[in-house]
Amino acid sequence: MPEIIVKDSAYDYAILKRDIFDIIDAVEGAYAVKPISAGRHVLIKPNLLASAHPDKAITTHPLLIKAVVEYVLEKGALPQVSDSHATFPKSFSQVVKDCGVTESLNGLPVTLKEFTVSKKVSALRGGGAFTPDTRYNTLELAEDALNADVIINLPKLKTHTQMDLTLAVKNLFGCVVGPRKPQWHFNLGENKELFAGLLATIHSVLRPEINIIDGILSMEGDGPGTGGIPRRLGVIMGSADAVALDMAVCHMLGIDEMSLATNKAARDKGHLVDFTIRGDMKYIGDYVFPTRANLLFVPRFAMNVLRQNLTTRPMNIEGACKLCNDCVKICPAQAIENDTKRLHFDYDKCIRCYCCMEVCPHRAIKVHQPLAVKAIKKIVKVFTPG
Ligand code: SF4
Ligand code: SF4
Repeated sequence: MPEIIVKDSAYDYAILKRDIFDIIDAVEGAYAVKPISAGRHVLIKPNLLASAHPDKAITTHPLLIKAVVEYVLEKGALPQVSDSHATFPKSFSQVVKDCGVTESLNGLPVTLKEFTVSKKVSALRGGGAFTPDTRYNTLELAEDALNADVIINLPKLKTHTQMDLTLAVKNLFGCVVGPRKPQWHFNLGENKELFAGLLATIHSVLRPEINIIDGILSMEGDGPGTGGIPRRLGVIMGSADAVALDMAVCHMLGIDEMSLATNKAARDKGHLVDFTIRGDMKYIGDYVFPTRANLLFVPRFAMNVLRQNLTTRPMNIEGACKLCNDCVKICPAQAIENDTKRLHFDYDKCIRCYCCMEVCPHRAIKVHQPLAVKAIKKIVKVFTPG
């Protein structure tokens, strides 16, 4: 059964390095042959999706990445740190500089580069299974990730307005290169279960050997971008199994593990869903999850008609918006227009993926709840016992 190693930790480098080394040693113990050894090519995949200071809790902390790189170097292996960011037209080198990664890795013999080249791969690689939905049977993923001897997955613990949380399995979506990411969002629309199926398939293909989540400074509220609120949890957790790690995070935050769509999708693909905990697990009963309205009792045919008034949606905060166009460029549905004075959202086109919130550098997009949603929530509260 997969083991979750839990550590109270901090962004004090001496403490963090000790804790990271302890976690990787423990996780490597789960394998008959330790994955990280001399000459092996180790791909380190943090969350470097957006150009953001570490205090914003949007990206994996640069000191955590540094500690992992130092571990890999000590073993004589060859580290590469890569991601595919979403803040165009910023360059990858600008993003990693803004995230503090360039400075933290300064002087270390590590390759720091963007994923740029994709390779087609069958969903059967890594022992995965085809799903009834054939659109996942062939994926295009970063060649560097597919060719690596070992993958170390370093997600940030954050809320996500579409997917509830973005954890270890979701972090691997960064191995989809550049514009293919919005294409997937657009093709799968606002169906969270379909998107979770894609994420579970990507995970089954890549199967990172080591997963460590950065929950020292996490994000709650309307994440995963500047709309969320940083919250210090002071925890890092590691495992050889990304799905088990995500389940343990749900457990820590007091939600049903199968309420996270990626966990359910992984289980439906036959992934073992169980874990044991080593260390003192915190229990957080007041974590703030994103504002959203999943009106599951509305029939699907009616949903199409009622979605304008019965689903949450992104909304521009005009005073805060700098009209920088980052959200316009990332929107997979081309639902945002900039008329040079203000932004206009086309909610018929919008698929509620919240990529725009994720990339906005100025906290200028919020989640809006239509009045009908607020009214229904009040009614449900009144008629819900306890
Ligand atoms: S909402 Fe944010 S990302 Fe979009 S144009 Fe305004 S400032 Fe830029
Ligand atoms: S407007 Fe925002 S939430 Fe809607 S599709 Fe575009 S990026 Fe996604």
